[in-house]
Amino acid sequence: NSPAWNFQRVDRNQGLGAPDLRGLAQRKPGMTMDYEAALDASLQRLHDEGRYRTFIDIERRKGAYPNAVWRKPDGSEADITVWCGNDYLGMGQHPEVLAAMHEALDATGAGSGGTRNISGTTVYHNRLEAELADLHGKEAALVFTSAYIANDATLSTLPKLFPGLIIYSDALNHASMIEGVRRNGGAKRVFRHNDVAHLRELIAADDPAAPKLIAFESIYSMDGDFGPIKAICDLAEEVGALTYIDEVHAVGMYGARGAGVAERDGQMHRIDIINGTLAKAYGVMGGYIAASAKMVDAVRSYAPGFIFTTSLPPAIAAGAAASVRHLKTDGTLRESQQLHARILKMRLKGLGLPIIDHGSHIVPLHVGNPVHCKMLSDMLLETFGIYVQPINFPTVPRGTERLRFTPSPVHGPARIEVLVNAMDNLWAQCALNRAEGAA
Ligand code: PLP
Repeated sequence: NSPAWNFQRVDRNQGLGAPDLRGLAQRKPGMTMDYEAALDASLQRLHDEGRYRTFIDIERRKGAYPNAVWRKPDGSEADITVWCGNDYLGMGQHPEVLAAMHEALDATGAGSGGTRNISGTTVYHNRLEAELADLHGKEAALVFTSAYIANDATLSTLPKLFPGLIIYSDALNHASMIEGVRRNGGAKRVFRHNDVAHLRELIAADDPAAPKLIAFESIYSMDGDFGPIKAICDLAEEVGALTYIDEVHAVGMYGARGAGVAERDGQMHRIDIINGTLAKAYGVMGGYIAASAKMVDAVRSYAPGFIFTTSLPPAIAAGAAASVRHLKTDGTLRESQQLHARILKMRLKGLGLPIIDHGSHIVPLHVGNPVHCKMLSDMLLETFGIYVQPINFPTVPRGTERLRFTPSPVHGPARIEVLVNAMDNLWAQCALNRAEGAA
């Protein structure tokens, strides 16, 4: 007879009326458009092109990652190995991260209770920002609810701060940067991917007096190739442009303290705004920029995507700070991740499989057809308990569909062996091409 028990017995439809399951046309007789037919057509298009996305329902097991349980649509379950997560270092289950989150949760409760301006700034947010500023050797950092929002909010705000700003954006920049640049109402130029000569040409065609910013990534996550950081910084200095780098796939992963590729290459001090995520190598959630105190103050004050949204829960901020702190001094996870990535690439290449290898930690396997890509992914999951999501358009250009493997320190030799044998088997079954002379 507890109140909770009574509550559960309440008929949810009472007082609200039974759900109205009639079609839209009956409910809205004044309709001029057949909304449902339009939705059907949009969804059918994706099915026809073989790129309708199905989410795999998985439950990760703390301490056992990359093992997880797959809950199948028919209600049954299977044990699987996750081979496509972005928890690159397994920090999502690291004891220090979990302890920090538990402590903050117990101390402060669930949510932050407000935007950063209205009661949502806590000691945990401040500590995290101090940790990030220190990581990147910048005066300040600003935390957002994701790196997507950090990119979008910052890039869409910069023209308000620098009237007449022209943004030069790499052709393969992430959707969040494209969105930010597109929405900002300022001038934009798109330079061919990693083509500094083209970037120079575009800059030369513009007014030398106009304020400029070059936006690019340190690692392009779908091919795993590196951005030409030094060459871009050299050019930016020459023409007086600001630099903006997305290190989302590199923070925690490269550099002596895990600050990214710019740290590894000794270029970090030359970048004006660094963007990173707390959701991939750091294993938690959230995004940020790190920059000068004045730049951060201005973005903090003008970016709607920062101002008008609830701040991260304190427990998330505490876990992220613990993760960043840990990876500043512990390089062993990075090294082991890199080793496993190298071994996996070598093994798959040895079978003649078309691995795209730019020397980074990401292992993309080119399939080149959305239907084959989905089929391989389905077979891996159903037959071998290996989960790797197919990557299709618009995440990658059509015709370059791929499987993208993300080894981690916990994807050791035994798991690599299982994956390599499965791929060998499936490649043969599907009669896909191999490189000449392969085993
Ligand atoms: N930038 C790049 C290059 C990304 O690949 C992603 C996410 O996959 C993001 C930004 C967004 O990061 P977050 O997941 O923190 O929103």
